[in-house]
Amino acid sequence: MRLETRAIHAGLRVDPTTGAVAPAIHPSTTFEHAPDGACPRGWLYSRNANPNRDALEECLADLEGGAAAAAFGSASAATTAVFLALEPGDHVIAPLDAYYGTGRLLRETFARWGLGATFVDMQDLAAVRAAVRDTTRLVWVETPSNPLWHVSDVAALAEIAHAAGARCVCDNTTATPALQRPLALGADLVVHATTKYLAGHGDVMGGLIVARERDGLFERVRGLQATGGAVPSPFDCWLVRRGIRTLPLRMRAHSEHALSVATFLDDHPRVEAVHYPGLPADPGHKLAQRQMSGFGGMLSLRVRGGRDAALAVAAKVRVFTCATSFGGTESLVEHRASVEGPATRSPESLLRLSVGLEHPDDLIADLAQALG
Ligand SMILES: *Cc1c(COP(=O)(O)O)cnc(C)c1O
Repeated sequence: MRLETRAIHAGLRVDPTTGAVAPAIHPSTTFEHAPDGACPRGWLYSRNANPNRDALEECLADLEGGAAAAAFGSASAATTAVFLALEPGDHVIAPLDAYYGTGRLLRETFARWGLGATFVDMQDLAAVRAAVRDTTRLVWVETPSNPLWHVSDVAALAEIAHAAGARCVCDNTTATPALQRPLALGADLVVHATTKYLAGHGDVMGGLIVARERDGLFERVRGLQATGGAVPSPFDCWLVRRGIRTLPLRMRAHSEHALSVATFLDDHPRVEAVHYPGLPADPGHKLAQRQMSGFGGMLSLRVRGGRDAALAVAAKVRVFTCATSFGGTESLVEHRASVEGPATRSPESLLRLSVGLEHPDDLIADLAQALG
């Protein structure tokens, strides 16, 4: 079946006892078992597994084409579980422009635990090859990447990882399975911040790992989910699963609106550059066309005049809201350099836009008046 159909049905069935079509929420922390401890219905205690979490995991494994999935309370918790599943002394190759929190985890926390990390430009395959050590166990990929929306070649990076005896992990938060299928391109694990497009309404945090196979690495992640306990609540899982029903439709609209906004900005005299892989002149356009089925809702612009000019535009928007995060129905704008602080790699003139589901004419009119 096609993605639109699976996004609605995967992991869900009509409740056999009540006939309810929409799934129930199961807040119970504990489930009746047999006197000898056997669990005929499959559930024992909600930290280990819960019906709402199972439904969400089954759905994402299906949408990504994986064998299994493990849900966490945030993508940062999911990322932590992947790194904890490695051994001290192992080495990770990660993108220079990895999600801010992923870079911080490697530099601040896992470095102290003896996990080595080399940060490279993932668009430069020779640099990735040169970073391989005999202890390299993981090549971490994130595409398109924040905030310049660089596109990296998942198939080529997975091949480099496999030739080195390592695994390839792809953070697919920005593209979602509606636009990009990393496992089909050769990745072994997919990471998601369900906080963003999957839940889609800016009202629930969550993370998730999908595995191509139930191998040793995934079983360690699964074990850490239960023993570490950074699990999402049943209601959170229910909300994310509900959001996914409209994911393919929303991603189509986000992509369409972002392309309209990017095209408008690209022609504007006060805009120095637009970073969006959907624009034909973008350096990532051809690769994105090959490995994605749409270009997504995230773009960045650089305002002529630097930091002050960018902040002035952010201060004037009315439909866009100045806020971090992305993937909700409402459009957001953010001056990343201010939010990330002195260590930022984001240009001072850059504003990041999460293009929402409002009418694109209203978004363009808002940016037009803010740019002046
Ligand atoms: C937001 C985000 C994360 C972290 O997600 P949390 O749920 O906030 O921990 C990781 N990767 C990417 C690409 C993100 O955008």
